[in-house]
Amino acid sequence: MHVVILVSLLLLSLSMNIYAQTSAELSEIWEKEHVSNIPPSNVRHKDLKVYLEGLKKSGIKVAEVGRSFSDREIYQAEFGKGPLKVFLWSQMHGDEPTATSAVIDLLAILQKNRDKDWARKIENKLTIRFVPMLNPDGAEAYIRRNMQGLDINRDALSLRSPEARLLKRLREEWSPEIGFNLHNQNALTTAGNTYKQAAISFLVVFGDARKTSNPGHERNKRLVSAMIQAIHGYIPGNIGLYDDGYTPTAFGDSFSAWGTPVILIETGALHDKSEMFLVKMNFIAIATALKLLADGSEKNVSPVAYDQLPHNTSGRLFYFIFRNASVVNSARPNNVVITDIGANTVRRRAEFTSPTIVSRLGDLSAFTGLQEFDASNFYVVGRFQSLAADNFAEILFYRKDRQIDWAAVDLEKTFPPDAIFSLGKWVKGEGIVPKK
Ligand SMILES: [Zn+2]
Repeated sequence: MHVVILVSLLLLSLSMNIYAQTSAELSEIWEKEHVSNIPPSNVRHKDLKVYLEGLKKSGIKVAEVGRSFSDREIYQAEFGKGPLKVFLWSQMHGDEPTATSAVIDLLAILQKNRDKDWARKIENKLTIRFVPMLNPDGAEAYIRRNMQGLDINRDALSLRSPEARLLKRLREEWSPEIGFNLHNQNALTTAGNTYKQAAISFLVVFGDARKTSNPGHERNKRLVSAMIQAIHGYIPGNIGLYDDGYTPTAFGDSFSAWGTPVILIETGALHDKSEMFLVKMNFIAIATALKLLADGSEKNVSPVAYDQLPHNTSGRLFYFIFRNASVVNSARPNNVVITDIGANTVRRRAEFTSPTIVSRLGDLSAFTGLQEFDASNFYVVGRFQSLAADNFAEILFYRKDRQIDWAAVDLEKTFPPDAIFSLGKWVKGEGIVPKK
């Protein structure tokens, strides 16, 4: 018994070393050789075509495999000549772009490193097919759905969208042994009973409501465990388990039911980290899975890291919380309310400014802000609209020892505020309202 424990501890520490080494190498190689060069949220269909041209020039097979509802080309890229068939698709939700860039980088780096042992093994053991940006119309408009207004990921059974019909056909024609379904989740998703953002969440997708396991499902649990161990050093506490409810109309669930067990990867966000950092996390995770599949070592991985993942949680975070602000309503200036203000940023492409919206007023002591400010020494007033839920969080801050005529016609000019918060930033007086 003790011997068994010792041996497994030894194996565990050995494997931890392997992952640490592996992910450090993968991180370094991504830093040096990644080809995606704009933030994923800015990548449009024309930019994807440039990426794919680059892959093609380097020798990777790229072919148009179908058209979107608005007649945009949908492509498939292929690497490797091995017997194990790995299928990945990204951005079936148009505004969920991170993995498109990550897998483009992965294919480019595999092709460039074909003389290295790890890439050669992947080339010889696996055949990888990748459909980037399955929903190019939605990606162009930066919306979830396709141009028919359909959620492609609820169209696996009724197949009313050309994108869903294409995805189903690509699986049927090829019968891949494993699928990777690549998405983004809400930036304020948290990991378990914490206030930590879930930068990456995983789910090993079942093929039925009764959650029947099978060898492919068990293999995927081992792979996800390895992926978790490969990235957890970079984002400790920021990895979650995606909700595992069965949705028969979704593609991950349907692929698993049809014989291609699916791993779902949902990229969230991490305050103070760029989109490109999350591309790198995706790259390290997926490359780790492919390496382990290719050299057979996935069989030795314990599924325990997956089994212990904390569930995704939500409703715990705001982008911004201003604590104990004295909110002035210019229409009724004598009625000052002391309250917390929670505000959230609307997610847009990186190239566009994102408005910040008041989400809630009241006692927010049970919540955490990614950024928090102590507004207890300030009167606050809305710059363009009153400070109320769903209005813009454009906020003027006045020290409480000042005498202000709140009814002044042009308040901001007549009584210049001490600080102004606009579009999620301090545009005047940064640092005057102290951080919590
Ligand atoms: Zn999605």
